[in-house]
Amino acid sequence: MKITERAGKIAPFYVMELLEKAKAMEARGEDIIHMEVGEPDFATPPSIKEEAIRAIRDNRTFYTHSLGLPELREKIAEYYERIEHVRVSPERVLITNGTSGAFLLLFTTLLEKGRILAVSDPGYPCYRNFGTLVDAEILSLPVSEGTRFEITVECLGSTDVTPQLLIISNPSNPTGVVYREETIYELYKFISSKGGMLIVDEIYSGLSYRGELRTSLSISEDVIVVNGFSKAYAMTGWRLGWMVVPPALVRPIQKIAQNVFISPPSISQYAAMYAFDEADELENMRKTYEERRDFMLPQLKRLGFSIPVDPEGAFYIYAGIDKWGLDSMEFVEKALREARVALTPGYDFGSYKAGSHIRFSYANNMNRLKAGCERLERWLRIL
Ligand code: PLP
Repeated sequence: MKITERAGKIAPFYVMELLEKAKAMEARGEDIIHMEVGEPDFATPPSIKEEAIRAIRDNRTFYTHSLGLPELREKIAEYYERIEHVRVSPERVLITNGTSGAFLLLFTTLLEKGRILAVSDPGYPCYRNFGTLVDAEILSLPVSEGTRFEITVECLGSTDVTPQLLIISNPSNPTGVVYREETIYELYKFISSKGGMLIVDEIYSGLSYRGELRTSLSISEDVIVVNGFSKAYAMTGWRLGWMVVPPALVRPIQKIAQNVFISPPSISQYAAMYAFDEADELENMRKTYEERRDFMLPQLKRLGFSIPVDPEGAFYIYAGIDKWGLDSMEFVEKALREARVALTPGYDFGSYKAGSHIRFSYANNMNRLKAGCERLERWLRIL
């Protein structure tokens, strides 16, 4: 039987293919420096792990409420009130199977054939792919240094179609840029005046290097905010996220969640109850990423990479490679083969200027990052 047209439209992750090549080289005994992986290199903080073990021992291993443990939903609402001074009813907080689970639930609830999802190009590729899975049309909005890689109202308004849904990541993957509050507010005003909705993916909000990053929940009850434990809490494998949605969306989302997931993972949820008490550990990780960024930025600029906007969040640097006149796919293939450094080509994040950009991830320890920069320097000299 033939696969569906929509399955055929899903683009592969080039970074995964590259990672497989890197792993094959490592299996042959070669030493590869990983600057492609979008995953924290830290272990999950101890109290979270201990609680998971206790939960297993105490047989807290059953399905939970389809929208998540009530006490975790309350804990997240409390967190917003305590840290962000935003009042959110726990009923609006829905626990999901990673933020990926949240996107699936949101898009199946809000998109279908004939509706349009607007995304940033470059941007996090899964948004586009999830949109394709629900037969939505994808409106790619090219962003560049002219707007600090932000989608602006001018950019959104210049298209002749009006999207039902706009999604942004703040801080952004792959550019590391933190949106200005006024830009998000204007985007919200614009899209809601047309009857559409704004989703802000704040999964990297705990990794900001320019001081407090305000949640977009403070704008309006109608802004959907997605967040999760994967990045700032170093819990990628626990598959746990959350979203805060307007009251009218809770029930429609719940019906889909019951069918698709039954419940989020129980052990991960009990363990995550402790995540908000690990403030010191989280701050240590954040500071470490910041030190790495402060090391990497000047190094990469010195090597000739073009980085017009300094990243202020997440653990990525999006860099122009015009200087070497190679397509980004060829550049990363050669860097892997010849310098033994793994990088991500711009093509993973869209098509706009994708051939002239690559993404560095600094989710690796300082010694490896230093060695990676040295290898790149030697290699670029002879390129
Ligand atoms: N959102 C962004 C912007 C990401 O970069 C990622 C992962 O790389 C995710 C969401 C997915 O995270 P999760 O592990 O919560 O599914």
